[in-house]
Amino acid sequence: MIPRQSYMLEDGERLTDAGMKAMIPMFVRGREGDSHNCGGCSMFIPGKDDGPGGCTIVQGDISGEHGTCLYWAKAKGKPPKASDAHDCRMTKSEADYVEPSSKINCSTCKFVRGNRCALWRGTVGPGDCCMAWSQR
Ligand code: SF4
Ligand code: SF4
Repeated sequence: MIPRQSYMLEDGERLTDAGMKAMIPMFVRGREGDSHNCGGCSMFIPGKDDGPGGCTIVQGDISGEHGTCLYWAKAKGKPPKASDAHDCRMTKSEADYVEPSSKINCSTCKFVRGNRCALWRGTVGPGDCCMAWSQR
């Protein structure tokens, strides 16, 4: 897995759009839909009665609709059950879990410069977000 530091580049040492996406496979962009949300991950444990779900490797409530993390892996077959959760699950912080919302998105990130991200050369919008989100 890619350590967080590897894409924490100084201003002026930016990655290209393609480079950024290659280094952060779970790059989340509002414009690109739900392709890497927890609900489509093989570790996602569906919640009951529309309640929050869980994860076999990450602690706490997990949003199938909005959440994602560095360990996303495409779901195959039946989803896991709560009893499949590992005893030593990571914290959300350790997994770089993010849940883009009205408070967590590119517009509230310390790396945004106008409509561009200081970490790479692409443009970003308020509906976009990525694993490197950091509170401004
Ligand atoms: S928190 Fe990560 S590993 Fe767990 S379901 Fe979501 S994307 Fe998958
Ligand atoms: S502004 Fe922040 S959240 Fe948006 S792409 Fe850049 S680092 Fe990621």
